[in-house]
Amino acid sequence: MSKRDYYDVLGVSKSSSKDELKKAYRKLAMKYHPDRNPDDQEAADKFKELSEAYEILSDDQKRQAYDNFGHQGVNSQYSSAQGAADAFSDIFGDIFGDIFGGSTRGRSRSTGADLAYNLSISLEEAVRGTEVSLQIPSKERCSGKFSTCSYCSGAGVVRMQQGFFSMQQTCPQCRGEGEIHDPNCNICHGRGYIKKDKTLSVKIPAGIDSGDRIRLSGEGEPGYGNNPNGDLFITVDIQEHKIFQRDGRHLYCEIPINYIDAVLGGDVEVPTLEGKVKLKIPSGTQSHKLMRLKGKGIRPINGASKGDILVRVQIETPINISSEQKKLLEQLKESFDKDQNSPKEKSWFENARDFMRGQ
Ligand SMILES: [Zn+2]
Ligand SMILES: [Zn+2]
Repeated sequence: MSKRDYYDVLGVSKSSSKDELKKAYRKLAMKYHPDRNPDDQEAADKFKELSEAYEILSDDQKRQAYDNFGHQGVNSQYSSAQGAADAFSDIFGDIFGDIFGGSTRGRSRSTGADLAYNLSISLEEAVRGTEVSLQIPSKERCSGKFSTCSYCSGAGVVRMQQGFFSMQQTCPQCRGEGEIHDPNCNICHGRGYIKKDKTLSVKIPAGIDSGDRIRLSGEGEPGYGNNPNGDLFITVDIQEHKIFQRDGRHLYCEIPINYIDAVLGGDVEVPTLEGKVKLKIPSGTQSHKLMRLKGKGIRPINGASKGDILVRVQIETPINISSEQKKLLEQLKESFDKDQNSPKEKSWFENARDFMRGQ
């Protein structure tokens, strides 16, 4: 989750132009490109980080979302883990196509696949943060015999010199794996790996919202040979809550209150995520009035100030009244004066009468 600022990654200022971005990206990407740094995990990570930063900042809409909301603003825009992977290769083709020829890609084909995981958590867990244990489908290298590929001598790639540039291609014999596994292996039936779940403990930060994505670098499927693993993308989904509906950093709830309390005023107890608080109902409160408990909402993940709890009051009309109560209410009704006690009702009926006259 601790992503670096995209502008810092590219070493440009917030006001840099598209051309400046492209130049900065191109220079750094040339330096950290996997083809120039074979078997260098750090360079591979740098390259990935660069590509992501450029992918966001080179797109006006995504750049604006990033400027306004930070990483949160753009994280949820990837529709799938594969979408992010495609974005990397697309940029790469765009920028380097003219130098290396269109066949080179940002992500080596032998990199492990990204995994996507949908995580469902309660609202309380999302607000306070939690730690979850995930079972992730994974692969484990077969314990059977592997032998070094004779075509590439185990490198997984074959190099070709073209002018100034040294180009490399995935080895056609071992498909980049650098080694050959016994096709008749009776442990894995020749696949070279066996399927095995792995357990991961993942910290979910407080304030996370539905649709937010957590990226665990290198926790995807293993790469072939010495190639890096894919990433694991966890998309968070917050379960429905009995009392609250979440709206960003605010929580919304409806509270039924007694009709007498609405007339006379009084206190009601409202549950919050940190215990109960008293909410004062002023006398003469109308149905559907929205009231605010300031600072009782959610502190969002980007560190902005805490939201509120918004309470909508629903006045409950008494039902199943006794004959005694009925008598009292009729007496009460007698005592009412429309001008004084029900100004809304009075003006509504006057408007309705005028409207009917005008027909
Ligand atoms: Zn080979
Ligand atoms: Zn095997």
